[in-house]
Amino acid sequence: MKIAMMARNPNLYSHIRLKEAAEERGHELTIINTLRCYMNIAARRPEVYYNGEKLPRFDAVIPRIGASVTFYGLAVLRQFEMQGVFPLNESVAIGRSRDKLRSMQLLAREGLGLPVTTFAHDPKQTEEVLKLAGSAPLVVKLLEGTQGIGVVLADTDRSAKSVIEAFRGAGVNILVQEFIKEAGGTDIRALVVGGRVIATMQRKGAEGEFRSNLHRGGSAQAIKISPIERSTAIRAAKTMGLNVCGVDMLRANHGPVVMEVNSSPGLEGVEKATGIDVAGKIIESLEKSAKPGKTKTRGK
Ligand code: ADP
Ligand code: GLU
Repeated sequence: MKIAMMARNPNLYSHIRLKEAAEERGHELTIINTLRCYMNIAARRPEVYYNGEKLPRFDAVIPRIGASVTFYGLAVLRQFEMQGVFPLNESVAIGRSRDKLRSMQLLAREGLGLPVTTFAHDPKQTEEVLKLAGSAPLVVKLLEGTQGIGVVLADTDRSAKSVIEAFRGAGVNILVQEFIKEAGGTDIRALVVGGRVIATMQRKGAEGEFRSNLHRGGSAQAIKISPIERSTAIRAAKTMGLNVCGVDMLRANHGPVVMEVNSSPGLEGVEKATGIDVAGKIIESLEKSAKPGKTKTRGK
């Protein structure tokens, strides 16, 4: 296959591994800097241009669109989709996953376990939002945060209120969540590829840190998950319509709750913790599903 990978940094572990895995299996993989693509929107002959040239027709595209370039990245991905190129993850599904509220609404509709989550736009509703979320400790988070930045634990109702006011003052959207204390600063990441969980790890926050993100100094180790956790991860991926994703769950007393579904999961932590060739499994699943014109909107 001729595969295009949309990525800004070709030297990231995940991108190097995906390229290696594709080449090991006899495919040609070209890394394309998403922001350097330009396009024409023309009837019947959609093209993507790059460095002064029209890109050839690819059989498949692997979108690795960073959160900060979601808008333009999705436009480029849609252009490939217009050409009938098969996307590892489809633009609509990535768009859903980038919006935490939309994701939670969809997952809730499917009956998946979620932390009690509330939000409001109007600052006058702060008290009401706090009441709906329960009482402190509460987690206040930026709607568009990543890597644990903008996730704050408020120990008292008063501090929750001031954190909310501070975020509001900065003009950003937030959500307020019950704090799953029993997770003990750990979370579970399940890598779902082609409707199956292929690797699982547990991440633990650094000493005294409730956020388990590896970027916040957390550490990862392989872990076995329960059948309920497995089926939760698979259903979450299916609901979002993502062929490949990382589903983050917390172990709450009442069962697994989904925190987030990530459409461009990093491979370094999970491959190193589990020894599983995740990149290879991603390319294998692409081999099975990439057929011309097979782009179709999945998910609910
Ligand atoms: P990001 O998208 O920035 O990674 P998350 O919402 O995934 O933000 O939160 C980062 C980490 O903080 C999670 O992996 C988890 O360890 C911790 N965390 C987030 N929300 C809660 C919560 N409601 N209860 C307990 N821990 C939480
Ligand atoms: N399933 C519909 C869609 O594909 C709507 C759900 C959503 O908001 O993503 O867009």
